[in-house]
Amino acid sequence: MLQDPVPGLLSRATELLEAEFTSLPPFETAVDPGAMAQVLEATAHRLGDNYPYFHPLYAGQMLKPPHPVARAAYALAMNLNPNNHARDGGRASSEMEIEAVQGIAGMFGWTEFLGHLASSGTLANLEALWVAGQLAPGRRIVGSEQAHYTHKRISAVLKLEYANIPADSRGHMSMEALETELRRGDVGTVVVTLGTTATGAVDPLDEVLALKQKYGFRVHVDAAYGGYFRLIPEALDEPARRAYAAIDQADSIAIDPHKHGLQPYGCGCVLFRDPAVGRFYKHDSPYTYFTSRQLHLGEISLECSRAGAAAVALWATQQLLPLTPGGEFARGLARGRAAALELDRRLRQDDRFQTLADTPPELDIVVWKLNAENKELASELAQRVFAACAARDLHLALVELPLTWFRPAAGFEPELCAANGAGLVTCLRSVLMKPEHEAWLDRIWERLTAACAEVMGG
Ligand SMILES: *Cc1c(COP(=O)(O)O)cnc(C)c1O
Repeated sequence: MLQDPVPGLLSRATELLEAEFTSLPPFETAVDPGAMAQVLEATAHRLGDNYPYFHPLYAGQMLKPPHPVARAAYALAMNLNPNNHARDGGRASSEMEIEAVQGIAGMFGWTEFLGHLASSGTLANLEALWVAGQLAPGRRIVGSEQAHYTHKRISAVLKLEYANIPADSRGHMSMEALETELRRGDVGTVVVTLGTTATGAVDPLDEVLALKQKYGFRVHVDAAYGGYFRLIPEALDEPARRAYAAIDQADSIAIDPHKHGLQPYGCGCVLFRDPAVGRFYKHDSPYTYFTSRQLHLGEISLECSRAGAAAVALWATQQLLPLTPGGEFARGLARGRAAALELDRRLRQDDRFQTLADTPPELDIVVWKLNAENKELASELAQRVFAACAARDLHLALVELPLTWFRPAAGFEPELCAANGAGLVTCLRSVLMKPEHEAWLDRIWERLTAACAEVMGG
């Protein structure tokens, strides 16, 4: 934070932006810089009551600082505050949105598609499920019990029935359980999560697509968190690699640039493989602007006003860091993943901890349980280690997972693995999504082990 390049870069770019409008007569806006300075002092003080999300020792929840170029571009766009509802509200920023979304679709192998930015992953998923409901009214939506909790709520809003499919002990949707649901013949859409929020588990998309051949349904891929891992197949293990390779066969995809894409909040994205679904969005708002004959983004979005600045920030970031395999952006993702694998490796060698059975993390989220006689004690230890880490400026997260996930499971046992209140244990969780986490792993490990020594002795 100390050598922030943004203020200098921004002041130069602001001059250039002002130069674009010099033909206009000058005007004054009444502002009181003294009063503003006071309010901003108070604001800075209030913001100090936060976890230090920008720092590598923040390794808890899914929070990644926006790239400086995204912050600068967002702030630059604030001089205009464009609205990407329509071209009249944001002519340049709508074009930039179209280009940025093409970049994301291209990462998934799509050149012809329909897509746009949304305020969040939740809104992106809502649009995908709304379209799914339009195409198959009255048919059910199903997703793994580890799918994001909002799918159930979204389905309720859309008045579509939603059912949970049990997950196996690595958090993957069970294909046996899915097929049982499919045999009932009323499933319209399967939500496949590439990167669950809790543990970064990757549902077997390729196997779901094979079932689609047999049963016929729509496949929506929720890649809000995990979508960008498509860029680093060489850093993934099977079967996750196979799932990512199949993503271009999805019917719709949601991805959050504000999670792994280095963007400020307010930036989700939804993509549809068939552009013809645009017909469902048709509306006849009497005050919709039509100065342009081209389709405008308000015509293909459920939301009306949207931050043009979010599109500008994303566009600028993708100019600097194109979404190409082997590029700098991809290497940053791979560094976080390497940090996760290394943390998992160290946890496995230390008998104070229990990691998920057999396989290392699939993406960049690590979860582990404290070893104790029973789950109540293990949960209490997790809470205490969490607090002792925080006292050392290391910020982790907590997650409740089925206790059965930590037993060496021989074969899949759906009734054991179905999460139920009685079988949950509190675990520690770390999302190592910053490239800096790799270089900071030793310091993270030192603090974690010191915290454990304090709480558990030894
Ligand atoms: C975060 C997340 C969402 C919700 O996205 P928001 O941008 O927080 O609304 C949906 N699905 C998955 C898998 C997520 O990780």
